[in-house]
Amino acid sequence: VRCDGIVQIYKAHEVEVVALRDVDLVIDEGETVALLGPSGAGKSTLLWLLAGLLRPSAGRLWLNGADIGRLSQRSLDRLRAAQIGMVLQNPARNLIGYLSAAQNVTFAQRAVKRDRRRAGDLLRRVGLQDAGDRPAGRMSGGEQQRLALAVALANKPRLLLADEPTSQLDERSGAWVVDLIKRAADVDGTTAVVVTHDMSVSEALGRTVTIRDGRVGAEGRRGEDFVVV
Ligand code: ADP
Ligand code: ADP
Repeated sequence: VRCDGIVQIYKAHEVEVVALRDVDLVIDEGETVALLGPSGAGKSTLLWLLAGLLRPSAGRLWLNGADIGRLSQRSLDRLRAAQIGMVLQNPARNLIGYLSAAQNVTFAQRAVKRDRRRAGDLLRRVGLQDAGDRPAGRMSGGEQQRLALAVALANKPRLLLADEPTSQLDERSGAWVVDLIKRAADVDGTTAVVVTHDMSVSEALGRTVTIRDGRVGAEGRRGEDFVVV
């Protein structure tokens, strides 16, 4: 992923809000990145841009060689379906409530061949091996959050985008989520960008990118000091 001079401006009630300014960022394939920053800094906006759900007001955004800011809507939709997995902050929005947990995962396998074994393996890795038959809509927030990650990875996406994927999880199940993200990076080369406030998550992911007031600030590599926000 490469962002060159990305600027994002919203117009709300005739007033312009600059959500991001001059973001220059390169994330290599298979990297797992934690995106940190205070509320309102522009983290979700950057995630939405990377997902192709927003178009940059200025600047360019490259995903595996494609300039996703300039693709036609149709190509963008196709690229998103084939290459991007997303975990929204509210996990219920990722799921179809009346389908079972297992059906949610297999339903998401559009780009890859439907593979019940892979679906079962994903459920097991997030501790939902016994929950496959339960309707997603009846699960707890924490279970839905873990299921949402399994769904987002069902397609072997090249890019995983996750907005606070451990916010409803305890330490143990939070660690399953991190392990699964790292595993996807190792096994499938999935690049991950994870918005998080959880220091154990950002430390485990390795690279930290900090946003403040729409600007990308200090970038720590593993072993360097973390910027506390
Ligand atoms: P974060 O995810 O870091 O909390 P956001 O990306 O949600 O930050 O927001 C960045 C800035 O852009 C904030 O000032 C927010 O109020 C503003 N913003 C976000 N979405 C919109 C929108 N749809 N319209 C207008 N302003 C927005
Ligand atoms: P969720 O992650 O569950 O969508 P959020 O609190 O992040 O919850 O966002 C609430 C809603 O605000 C989203 O469903 C979306 O419609 C809108 N939203 C959030 N971020 C942006 C953004 N950067 N640009 C436009 N709309 C946004």
